Amino acid sequence: MAHEGLAAIRRGLEGLDRDGLRRTRRVLDSPQGPVVVEGGLALANFASNDYLGLANHPRIRAAAIAAIEAWGFGAGASPIVVGHARPHEEAEVAFARFAGMPRALLFPSGYAANLGILAALADRSAEVFADRLNHACLNDGALLSRAAFRRYPHGDLDRLEALLAASRSAIRIIATDTVFSMDGDIAPVAELLALAERHDAWLVLDDAHGIGVLGEGRGTLARFGLRSPRIVYMATLGKALGGYGAFVAGEPELVEWLMQRARTYVFSTALPHAAAAVATAALRLLEEDPGIVEALAGRIAEFRRACEASGIATGSSTAIQPVIVGDSHRAVEVSARLRALGQLVPAIRPPTVPEGTARLRISLSAAHSREQVAALVAALVRALGDVPAR
Ligand SMILES: *Cc1c(COP(=O)(O)O)cnc(C)c1O
Repeated sequence: MAHEGLAAIRRGLEGLDRDGLRRTRRVLDSPQGPVVVEGGLALANFASNDYLGLANHPRIRAAAIAAIEAWGFGAGASPIVVGHARPHEEAEVAFARFAGMPRALLFPSGYAANLGILAALADRSAEVFADRLNHACLNDGALLSRAAFRRYPHGDLDRLEALLAASRSAIRIIATDTVFSMDGDIAPVAELLALAERHDAWLVLDDAHGIGVLGEGRGTLARFGLRSPRIVYMATLGKALGGYGAFVAGEPELVEWLMQRARTYVFSTALPHAAAAVATAALRLLEEDPGIVEALAGRIAEFRRACEASGIATGSSTAIQPVIVGDSHRAVEVSARLRALGQLVPAIRPPTVPEGTARLRISLSAAHSREQVAALVAALVRALGDVPAR
């Protein structure tokens, strides 16, 4: 019997090759850092989300090692059974204080957190309003909840307000990235909160790329001085904080509800103790050494100045700096040319970004030196010149 399912997959993979959309993985032979080793080459690393250089920071390593010595590795159970131990409890308390929120809950990952939040807050009768450029896991959470799913054009507050005004649902949820992951631009969070107030909605904020970066490291809410019982605040640990996992913070009853009802919390093993200990250590490090966040701000400013001087268009004030190339094939070729020049810069293609907006996605880090940023911009100028637009 012919295996039709496998044949369909083969055709699918051929299609990816034809469209220049097949992804391959790199195998790193070094820890994360401003320079990584891959394929026998040392490459300047502008590809990771390790915005503060904490992934391999001595204090983070020490916290992980100490936790493993004290607790072993596996948490052994769901947090609501016996997987929730002192390091997890301490991390939640530390994050609530750090973010200025009433209570926090430690989820297995950002992806799991967003699925859990939306499916626990929404049901079939609900409506979820989502920015079109949101991260995939907010979309997946909305779909999992079975709520009506209304996407509004990126940043279009008028369109969102019209959708909210037309809503007949008792449960309304606005969901947005705070810092958009492929463009690095910041959502109009204060205006979104005003809309949530006016239309009696929740505001789910995904601060994956804002925590550790904006508001002296305390995230996008701190950056704009916002507080509200309508806010469901999600911050991941895998990016600037150099670890793994995610926090969700908000009103005590909201967090209690998620603990009872978020399926990705209840039915998943608790994070390893070391991941919880690393979260606490990262928060403490940011409190004690604001210089780390300031160093990142310095690299962002230097990158922007150098790009402007070189005629490269950039538009972001965060660690994520897109250089739009347009065509997927050209984006891949420019990325390959950069690699030959010693620079690791990923090409991001559809479906991760909209059709016709393939780009280089440059991630800056506090761990980069000024010289590394200057060398990157020089290499960008060369690579873009070497691979002309078709
Ligand atoms: C990375 C990311 C996530 C997922 O977080 P993980 O902890 O890696 O699962 C969620 N939202 C946004 C915007 C992200 O960039």
